[in-house]
Amino acid sequence: MPVRKRFGQHFLHDPAVIRRILDSIAPLREDRVVEIGPGRGALTWPLLQMLDALQVIEIDRDLAAGLRTDSRGGGKLQVHVQDALRMDFTALRGTGAPLRIVGNLPYNISTPLMFHLLEHRAAIADMHFMLQKEVVDRIVAEPGGKDYGRLGVMLAVHAQATRLFDVGRGSFKPAPKVTSSVLRLRPAIEPRFEGLKALGAEGDAALKRVVAAAFSQRRKTLRNSLLELLDSTEIEACGIDPQLRPEVLAPAQFVQLAARYLRSSRSAAAPCR
Ligand code: SAM
Repeated sequence: MPVRKRFGQHFLHDPAVIRRILDSIAPLREDRVVEIGPGRGALTWPLLQMLDALQVIEIDRDLAAGLRTDSRGGGKLQVHVQDALRMDFTALRGTGAPLRIVGNLPYNISTPLMFHLLEHRAAIADMHFMLQKEVVDRIVAEPGGKDYGRLGVMLAVHAQATRLFDVGRGSFKPAPKVTSSVLRLRPAIEPRFEGLKALGAEGDAALKRVVAAAFSQRRKTLRNSLLELLDSTEIEACGIDPQLRPEVLAPAQFVQLAARYLRSSRSAAAPCR
C-alpha cells in the first residue's frame, strides 16, 4: 500500500517505543479508547488486546479497509472512515464515560486538531499523542520565550500538559524530518482559572478572541494588537502594562483580559475582576 504524504503517514515500527506509549496510557479493559490515525495498526493491535473494545478514526480509505478486514479485530474494533478534524467527539462520547484519545498524529493537522479537541474537552478524560517535538515545546512553554503562544495559552487554561518522552526519527518508516515527543493532556473538569469559570461559555469565546488577537502579530504591543477589543485604560485596569508584548503574559492574565473584554462589551462601566 502506498505511503500517502498528504496524510502525514509515518508508521511506528519500534517495539520499545510502542511499549512505552502503551505503558503511559495504561488502559483498563473497560476504558473507552479512541485512536486517531491508526494507520497500519502499530498501536491499534496491542491496544485492542488490552481492551474490551476500541474505536479508531482513519481518513485513508485503503488503510481503514485493511483494519476492518484484519482478523485481529475479532469484532471488537470499530473503524470510522473520517477526517478526525470533523469528528464530533461529544456525540461519540454520548452518555457514556468520557473518552480516552490516543494517536501517533499526522503532523500536518496536529495544531488544528488540538484546538478541535479542546472544543470537545468535556467529553474527554485524557489524551496521549505523538507529536512533533517542536509542537510539544510550544504546548509546554512557559511565558517569556519564543515557543510560548496561542496553542500553549489555550491548552494551559483548559488542560494539564505533560511531556512524557522524546522519540527519534528512526522509530518511524518513512523517517520524518524531525524528532517527535509523546504528550499527555488532561482536560480540566472546571476551567483552571476562577475568572473564566464565572463567565461560562461566553467567557470561553472571549478568551479565544483575546488570545488570537494578541498573538496575531507577536511583535506588536497589547495596546496595538488588542485595539479593537480593549483600550489601554481597560488593559491597565487589569494591572497589565499595555506596552507589553503578548508572549510575556501568563495564562491567568489572558483570562483577566478576556473577563474585562466580556464585561466591557456588556457594560462600559464594569469593574475588572
Ligand atoms: N498510528 C499509526 C502508526 O503509529 O504507525 C499511523 C500514524 S501516521 C503518523 C498518521 C495516521 O493518521 C495515518 O494513518 C493517516 O492516514 C492518518 N490521518 C491523516 N490525517 C487524518 C485525519 N484528518 N483524520 C484521521 N486520520 C488521519
